[in-house]
Amino acid sequence: MRIVGAEVEVVEVELVGGLLGCPSCREVLGPWGHARERVLRCAAGDRQIRPRRARCRGCRQTHVLLPLVALARRQDEIAVIGAAIEAKVLGGQGFRRIAEQLGASPITVRGWLRRFAERAGLIRSHFTRCAVALDPELGPVLPAGSGVADALEAIAVAVRAWVLRFGPAERWPVVSWLSGGLLLQHEPTLGGLVVS
Ligand SMILES: [Zn+2]
Repeated sequence: MRIVGAEVEVVEVELVGGLLGCPSCREVLGPWGHARERVLRCAAGDRQIRPRRARCRGCRQTHVLLPLVALARRQDEIAVIGAAIEAKVLGGQGFRRIAEQLGASPITVRGWLRRFAERAGLIRSHFTRCAVALDPELGPVLPAGSGVADALEAIAVAVRAWVLRFGPAERWPVVSWLSGGLLLQHEPTLGGLVVS
């Protein structure tokens, strides 16, 4: 899987033009059909997406090109998932209240929050590395008081470093990009792609 921009037409041009690199080996990806159609639950309403599939000309692995508003194997837009994480970590709200506010299922929201907490240490170290890669002059990332708060702080610092380098961007799609879509997956690492 590889995270790509949100604009389908731009992704198509990049893919056909050989501008997308393989997240495993960095060789060039070529078109390879489509993944199955799926619904992405967004703050603005459901969106039907049919991600492109690509195959690497080097290692021959196939990858689903997931738009950066999404995360691997999650049905909800990352901005919605991120809002839930912020409401829990910064606002101290419980999962039921958050679910109600977001119009999501409480079990789903609890799943996001649990996974984020389980992966907090990994998320913190990954995003701290991203921040330093984006901004070599970055000062130390200070502890924020708990595992999940530290993870969220490292995310905020990395996104600020991203914006300084590349210009204004929404926070959570940048997080999707920097985590390679794997923010909440059961994977030992985050992100095949850090900064190019
Ligand atoms: Zn490859």
